Amino acid sequence: MALFNSSNPHYQFNKRTLKYERVNYSWWHHFKRVLSVLLLSLLFGAGFFLLFTYTLQSPEEKKLAAENEAISAQYELLSRQLDEALGVLQNIRERDDNFYRVMLEADSIPSSLRTGNYDATARYAQWEDLRTTQIVRSTTQKMDILERMLYVQSNSFDELVDLSKKSEQRLNHIPAIMPVLNKDLKRTASGYGRRVDPIYKTVRFHHGMDFSAPTGTEIFVTGDGVIQSIGWKQGYGNCIFVDHGYGYVTVYGHISKFTKGLKKGSKVVRGDVIAYVGSTGKSTGPHLHYEVRYKGTPQNPQNYYYLDLSPAEYDQMVLLSANNAKTFD
Ligand SMILES: [Zn+2]
Repeated sequence: MALFNSSNPHYQFNKRTLKYERVNYSWWHHFKRVLSVLLLSLLFGAGFFLLFTYTLQSPEEKKLAAENEAISAQYELLSRQLDEALGVLQNIRERDDNFYRVMLEADSIPSSLRTGNYDATARYAQWEDLRTTQIVRSTTQKMDILERMLYVQSNSFDELVDLSKKSEQRLNHIPAIMPVLNKDLKRTASGYGRRVDPIYKTVRFHHGMDFSAPTGTEIFVTGDGVIQSIGWKQGYGNCIFVDHGYGYVTVYGHISKFTKGLKKGSKVVRGDVIAYVGSTGKSTGPHLHYEVRYKGTPQNPQNYYYLDLSPAEYDQMVLLSANNAKTFD
């Protein structure tokens, strides 16, 4: 008790005895007073702490806020750059779908496959609690779409490169030139269709095209291929059948002489001289009888000179071969 009362004694007026009397407070009374002072200061302290925390920033906080600002600005910039990249890719995609893939007869790629589905929220949920959620989320989403589109696009181009290599090979094999030199088209004798037979004088179907030319004129193979047969055949005289693959076969008839060394199975390249014009077999004069067959069916050869003829020359040839009713067979 000595701790609380000795140096500063308290007095109280007693109305009954009309005297001041010295009182001794209990330790509990003193303890309560100390406690209330402590509590009050604690409250003040907490109040000031909260006030400063919410109104003023520490240097560390200021630094973080500035960083945050810079990162947000950077995100905005990235987002805009991504928009530009997506625009460029969109352009490539349109050309891919509407031009390249159409040209090479490839199926178009569905839009859902190209851009994927990145609307699902679960993927971006990890940023939900950030104050900058929106910009972080949309930038990440754009990046995802860009990546996806690039992946699909590069696959598409790989496929097209493959296709174009194949079609280049195919184009080299399909008959596409005239089998003899035919400047001015003067050698065009008779076309495909109903013609009067030169020997029997009856109307028969002519399955090829005749080119009148002096004996010994060079005959060119009209597409890459392999010699299917070489020798004498009833009606055709000395003739060559060339297998071009892809369903195409060409026939060269009434030949006077074959190119030396050429035999069944020999590989030939478009433009190679394979033989020389003659009048062997059922023929009324030196000429080349030329046929194009696709999957066994004779085709009109005039549709297979597209490397040689301009559209105007083509028209002229159609006219010439239709008007020359007489065939050499
Ligand atoms: Zn003929």
